[in-house]
Amino acid sequence: MIHTVAAFDRMGEENAFAVLARATALSQNGRDIINLGIGQPDFRTPEHIVEAAIKALRDGHHGYTPATGLLATREAVVRRTLTTTGVEVSPDNVMILPGGKPTMYAAISIFGEPGNDILYPDPGFPIYRSMIEFTGARPVPVPVREENGFAFSAAETLALITPQTRLLILNSPANPTGGITPRSEIEALVKGLEAHPGVAILSDEIYDTMTYDGEEHCSLLQFPQIRDRLIVLNGWSKTWAMTGWRMGWSIWPNGEKSANLYDKVRKLAVNCWSCVNAPSQYAGIAAIDGPQDDVEAMMRAFDNRRSLVVEGLNALPNVHCATPKGAFYAFPNVAKTGWKAKKLASTLLEEAGVALIGGPDFGVLGEGYLRLSYANSEENIIRALERMGAYLEKNA
Ligand code: PLP
Repeated sequence: MIHTVAAFDRMGEENAFAVLARATALSQNGRDIINLGIGQPDFRTPEHIVEAAIKALRDGHHGYTPATGLLATREAVVRRTLTTTGVEVSPDNVMILPGGKPTMYAAISIFGEPGNDILYPDPGFPIYRSMIEFTGARPVPVPVREENGFAFSAAETLALITPQTRLLILNSPANPTGGITPRSEIEALVKGLEAHPGVAILSDEIYDTMTYDGEEHCSLLQFPQIRDRLIVLNGWSKTWAMTGWRMGWSIWPNGEKSANLYDKVRKLAVNCWSCVNAPSQYAGIAAIDGPQDDVEAMMRAFDNRRSLVVEGLNALPNVHCATPKGAFYAFPNVAKTGWKAKKLASTLLEEAGVALIGGPDFGVLGEGYLRLSYANSEENIIRALERMGAYLEKNA
């Protein structure tokens, strides 16, 4: 990958940040804006995690850590991975990075170059495509459809693989749809991938424990036959409400059989960010090993809001919303309102004071949808739905 000016010009953005900036500007001008745009929990990081960071600072942990992360933090990730997936990884496979996004950058820049194809979900997290474009590889969208519960279809995904395909990006539970891909589909996908040993897999599992109604999250780690070409992205941002701490982890193959992928990322870290700040890494250990009551309370709150949002959206004229199975997003279908989704999103912000994101910001198949993050209070969600209803009725 060569970082030319043209490569930077090809790089996209995450429109949620632009919507947040616009919503903040409107609020500062005295407008009452309800923000259902940004994908971050509206909860504070649990107190014992904050205390662990303060203690680390007081104890003098002010210096560099190893580029791959503190051994103690990587060992905490090993424990957490065992609990959530039943799979025992080695700390030598775990990399601590400043958030989830750097893993995307690392994986996509290792595999992406002109002449290669990278498969990614559409609709999906916008940074996948942006990074693929940056490397000059060809972005190949894998459709994720409402009629399929916003899950990946193994058959459809496998049919898109060509001799040029180097990387397949998966995300479940998914942003922006809240879809979860069932184990049966992942099993079929893994089986099919055995015929394509040259295709690496980046599985974004950052919402792994954010599921509802007992829905199972199936981790790709549970398939040993692909372990030497599998990268699993995860992190603290969503689960422990730590988006601003910039703490992520990923699990990489290590050793010659996997072309020393882990070591390549270690080198990238040395060149780009040296390490994640030490106090955050101590906080990360406390998050994993400490009490999970606050996280459970947060998930109960999200679950209640999910019912409220889905019910409220389905009561709006010409709007239909499937019940999301994970994460904290609703992805209502607004095709029958007669509005173009992006126009509707920007109009609702400017005229009704509700910030949300147009589906096309997540891919071509996002046309006809909006994304609402229910990381806001029940009271605000109810007010937002009332405003949307009143606006849609007046402007049908
Ligand atoms: N992956 C997905 C699917 C996300 O939705 C997000 C954030 O919204 C990330 C990764 C990035 O997480 P982080 O803030 O830790 O970089």
